[in-house]
Amino acid sequence: MPEGPEIRRMVDDIERTVGATEARSVFFSFDRFKPFERALSGRRVGAIQARGKAVLVFFAARGDDGLWCVYSHNQLYGQWRIGRADHEPATGRQLRFAILGDTRAARLYSASDIRVVQPDALSEIPYLARLGPDPLNDDTVDNVVLDCLLDDKRFAGRALGGLLLDQHFIAGIGNYLRSEILFEAGLHPARKPRSLTEDERAGLIEAVQMLIKRAYRLKGITNDPERAERLKKQGKHFGARRHMVFGRGGQACTTCGGPIDNTPVASRRLYLCPNCQPACCRLARRRAKRQHALVDKREHEIGRQACGYETREHPETVPPGQAEAHQHDGEGGRGSGKRNDLERHHADTEHDTGQADQARGYALNEHRQARTHQPIDTPRPGR
Ligand SMILES: [Zn+2]
Repeated sequence: MPEGPEIRRMVDDIERTVGATEARSVFFSFDRFKPFERALSGRRVGAIQARGKAVLVFFAARGDDGLWCVYSHNQLYGQWRIGRADHEPATGRQLRFAILGDTRAARLYSASDIRVVQPDALSEIPYLARLGPDPLNDDTVDNVVLDCLLDDKRFAGRALGGLLLDQHFIAGIGNYLRSEILFEAGLHPARKPRSLTEDERAGLIEAVQMLIKRAYRLKGITNDPERAERLKKQGKHFGARRHMVFGRGGQACTTCGGPIDNTPVASRRLYLCPNCQPACCRLARRRAKRQHALVDKREHEIGRQACGYETREHPETVPPGQAEAHQHDGEGGRGSGKRNDLERHHADTEHDTGQADQARGYALNEHRQARTHQPIDTPRPGR
């Protein structure tokens, strides 16, 4: 199933094909929508939006008949295709919905969850009504909003391995993003939000925000961009350079060099490095302490060399792959001691948890209000 970044790129393609143009004709395969073929044909195609894994296509008002929106969810088998308006591609799939422009067309095949609604009724569609914050498609979803979610009693006691796939928690994350986010954050899938330290919470939020946007920007690549580029120059195919852990079972971890595990979690394969993603927070703390000690030791050696002391080389100081991880720590590298706004927020408020909780609650309320009043497009139809 395509994940949020793939759906968003598909929306970009649909927008480039039929966005802001007049729909010469519209096709629906389901009988209940047949009357809309005539009602929507000739209208201007307005905004085209992704919401999690759903696609919304808005049609402008005409006369007294206001805006209409075609909602679709690809589920497992749905697929959008872009092509010529006068030539339908040969496929065994069933065409469900199509927008045909002058020369180009966007066609949706196989999807069964399609609805035609006026914008006010979008909130009644179950998938959208329960959809969690969408960091890729909603600019109001900042780190503070995600931080509040981790305290939400619906999610705080659930294991992250299953939770990250739940679209009520965060919209747009699917199977490959789940593995990549947990690895980037150094968290085992059995860890629960309520067991996370402040640093771990900040790391998880940062990994969600960074990787979902990187996957969109780099067409599915979640790997460090420099590493992905280097692998490309070495002749590695797309699948081999795309991810840090996902699909790399048995191969070496880019951070510690240990073998990557592949295990089913919530009925879907999850990839992790048992070394970098220890199962409990005691082990995680021990690992963090070890890493800090290694960094201290390395800095000490550098200091000695700078002072002109002879030093022996300490091969154990830099485990296999770790030098590379450090070298490419620029964008979202791990364990680099980076402090984002959220971390600073925690540091500033860590001695006053009451105030911090109040601030989180306030931020979440603000976000919910913003979503409630967020205009979908131009105002109500005059019907
Ligand atoms: Zn590792």
